[in-house]
Amino acid sequence: MMGRLNSLSQPVPAMTPAPTRTAHRTHSFTESVIREMTRVAREHDAINLAQGFPDFPAPALLKEAACAAIRADVNQYAITWGTPNLRKALADKYGSLYGMDVDTEREITVTCGATEAMVAVMLATVNPGDEVIVLEPFYENYGPDAVLSQATPVFLPLEAPDYRLERDRLEALVTDRTRAIVLNTPNNPTGRVFDREELQAVADVCREHDLLAITDEIYEHILYEGQHHVLATFEGMRERTIVISGLSKTFSVTGWRVGTIIAPADLTVAIRKVHDFLTVGAPAPLQEACAVGMNELGPEYYEGMVQGYRERREVLISALRAAGFKCAPPQGAYYVLADFSDLSDEDDTTFAKRLTSQGGVAPVPGSSFFSRPERGSKFVRFVFCKQIETLRAAGERLRTFASLA
Ligand code: GLN
Repeated sequence: MMGRLNSLSQPVPAMTPAPTRTAHRTHSFTESVIREMTRVAREHDAINLAQGFPDFPAPALLKEAACAAIRADVNQYAITWGTPNLRKALADKYGSLYGMDVDTEREITVTCGATEAMVAVMLATVNPGDEVIVLEPFYENYGPDAVLSQATPVFLPLEAPDYRLERDRLEALVTDRTRAIVLNTPNNPTGRVFDREELQAVADVCREHDLLAITDEIYEHILYEGQHHVLATFEGMRERTIVISGLSKTFSVTGWRVGTIIAPADLTVAIRKVHDFLTVGAPAPLQEACAVGMNELGPEYYEGMVQGYRERREVLISALRAAGFKCAPPQGAYYVLADFSDLSDEDDTTFAKRLTSQGGVAPVPGSSFFSRPERGSKFVRFVFCKQIETLRAAGERLRTFASLA
């Protein structure tokens, strides 16, 4: 059972049929808490620091390229596993950035966001009854994706505030049913960028026990400290690693739904079949626009993006600390997992709801990132992929809220 925010998820009779009419596989997880908090924020006209999407424009070059593609009538299905231009841009990127030799014809699948990528990969590689190791705190999709694949998620809790991954604790979870380890770096929600030693530990465990590694690298370009290590480039890992990423975060286009998978050819055959029957393909004109962005935006774009996020990170961290939250600046991605225990004795859900309705700022309750709700009960997660003015306005509201507490 995924421990998920039951008090926020009051069933709506018309929307939620009796359990007997619904498949068992849907019973052990709730709807997305992150997206639910976006709806709650709207209801209370609160500043939405819950769901990770930017409130600033995408690069003009991308928008123009998307319009140009539509004007040129790129309006029909793309090749199921991705347009040639985007697959070529991806192979170029993985080659030049990470030294990986990627075959555009046999090793790339373009999906509807990294979200579809993850579920397609699990459905294609994990058998019913298998176990999938998920590091905790986690991004909320991994557990349900395993359940949809009729597998069992097995959680490895990493301890605050360092959230370090230790080989012994990882290895202790491996059984003869373990099929895969899911690793998200830079990490949502902790902001950890796992270092070389930690990734080497994952590589060693995968090789020793013949496991797959499924890496979610959607924040690969959003890095403030450390270095992004690609597990697939570690010795002996290319043939057992599936690399998931996408353009949503890199180009601030979360609604375009363009995700990517790099996997060995034999796994890609299965992944493409699942992807084909799930969605046929990702939006054709938007794939073309992403290819243009990948080909034409140079280092100055990536540096500018990170600099922008670095400034936003400082604004949010200072505002949270000034209001009485305990938190550390993340090393990567754009989330802050903040401890509110100096502000309130409430549980995370009650606190998040009250902060949204009374304080006018919406976070995500911490329990949605943990398998056992009590582990997240003193945390809420805030995003800082928002304009500086949005973050400053949120900071003012947080201070007012804290002063009334
Ligand atoms: N990844 C983003 C987050 O964690 C958006 C999640 C979603 O709604 N797909 O907030």
